[in-house]
Amino acid sequence: MARFIFITGGVVSSLGKGLASAALGALLQARGYSVRLRKLDPYLNVDPGTMSPFEHGEVFVTDDGAETDLDLGHYERFTGVPARMTDSVSSGRIYSNVLEKERRGDYLGKTIQVVPHVTNEIKEFLTIGEDEVDFMLCEIGGTVGDIEGLPFFEAIRQFSHDKPRGQCIFMHLTLLPYLSASGELKTKPTQHSVKELQSIGIAPDILVCRSEQPIPEKEREKIALFCNVRKESVVAAYDLKSIYEAPLAYHDQGLDQAVLDAFQISPAPKPDLSRWYDVKDRIENPEGEVRVAIVGKYTQLEDAYKSIAEALTHGGMANRVKVRQEWVDAEIFDREDPAPHLEGFDAILVPGGFGERGTEGKIKAAQFARERRIPYLGICLGMQMAVIEAARNVAGLEDAGSEEFDHEAGKKRFTHVVYHLKEWVQGNEKVVRKKTDGKGGTMRLGAYDAVLKEGSKVAQAYGRLDIDERHRHRYEVDIQFREELEKAGLCFSGMSPDGRLPEIVEWPDHPWFIGVQYHPELKSKPFDPHPLFRDFVRAAKDAALLV
Ligand code: GLN
Repeated sequence: MARFIFITGGVVSSLGKGLASAALGALLQARGYSVRLRKLDPYLNVDPGTMSPFEHGEVFVTDDGAETDLDLGHYERFTGVPARMTDSVSSGRIYSNVLEKERRGDYLGKTIQVVPHVTNEIKEFLTIGEDEVDFMLCEIGGTVGDIEGLPFFEAIRQFSHDKPRGQCIFMHLTLLPYLSASGELKTKPTQHSVKELQSIGIAPDILVCRSEQPIPEKEREKIALFCNVRKESVVAAYDLKSIYEAPLAYHDQGLDQAVLDAFQISPAPKPDLSRWYDVKDRIENPEGEVRVAIVGKYTQLEDAYKSIAEALTHGGMANRVKVRQEWVDAEIFDREDPAPHLEGFDAILVPGGFGERGTEGKIKAAQFARERRIPYLGICLGMQMAVIEAARNVAGLEDAGSEEFDHEAGKKRFTHVVYHLKEWVQGNEKVVRKKTDGKGGTMRLGAYDAVLKEGSKVAQAYGRLDIDERHRHRYEVDIQFREELEKAGLCFSGMSPDGRLPEIVEWPDHPWFIGVQYHPELKSKPFDPHPLFRDFVRAAKDAALLV
């Protein structure tokens, strides 16, 4: 049965709990243990699928089709363990399960209460798959003291009591603010945060303290004394140049040792950190630099495209170059010629997106990349834009467009080269979507197989012909236009196994121009860069050398 590590946060949000959890997962793996990481989010949305990426960051999709928090992306990138639907839960999901049970009469007429019904539902969630791994790391979103978080804190408190002694530990992340006027690190907010935790019955075993300055021994002792933890369990977390240094940095500060001590695992197995030394070396010692333009709409919040930014970094690591990523607002091209904005970049990436705003600009970016022979990677919407561009400017279908942008009922502005998909096959099952399905859950979500065309660039990249990749979209390139587009020179180099859904297109006579209907960025890892990002950055590197 798994040992449980509960990770909570205090003082302020955005302390990097997800990253600390992911890095700890990687360190436990390095010591030979199997791990699974989970996120429990106190917000009331049933899942992040309908939340704006401006507000909440990227929606991370799992193989089994769940729309989850972006922290699950960190977990996967650091541990390589594919996340599952059951690795992410929100208050909304918990309450909706409880209410469903109540309606069904499962509670036999009892009054439904937060304790025990909601907390039991949370505890049940925690036990899913507990026999499969050595360590289960469960991160609680938000900060201690938030109203919404209380049922989760109460549930983990109960859970640790339900389990045999020594099977659960609590790790708490806090901030040590630095007052430059007095030149001091202040420990009081941490003390208050721990008090808050203690008042709800949780005594942290390990404190991870974010700090901009080195933590003097004296302060460490003070924290240990006032917060009732061992001195060795006060672990410093300093700012890092790259997130991928986190496993080594946390190891140096003794985090994994503190965790094993807390579980009284002795002697501790020796860690093999070679993977992370290699990653660090590749990040710290690039042999060149490439500039990639990301032409998108959600340019305000970096987290909106977290996995793409990371996958590009991984592609750079594979090629030993630094990838300078610059966001270019697609809407500018609605009004202006893209050339002056895109010249000078070694490659162009058009990421996924929803809605019409900025799409004409993305189509222009695809055209620019095709005509100027600049490496192009179109992801999801970026592939659809490349196909529309090919239809309009090469195949002569001047009014080509996507059904997504034809909102006025009865009025058709475009020939729908990209159309609204309403039924498809997943494995052996037919999936049908109805108008009444609402916004959440109407997408083709999760892993789907594709068959690649022999000799194509994608087949070269993957080194095989059968792949599966994760999807998240409602619209699809219409196979009816395949012949016309192929005549124009566009190659449909990846198709769904039944041959109905175009998964990949490429221009064979272009140095590197690929559009994919899925999200390859979700599966890229620093120690195992995704083949498409690896080759895309290689193409960018080749282009940079030509200049
Ligand atoms: N809006 C497009 C669709 O729904 C693309 C989605 C995406 O890029 N993830 O098909």
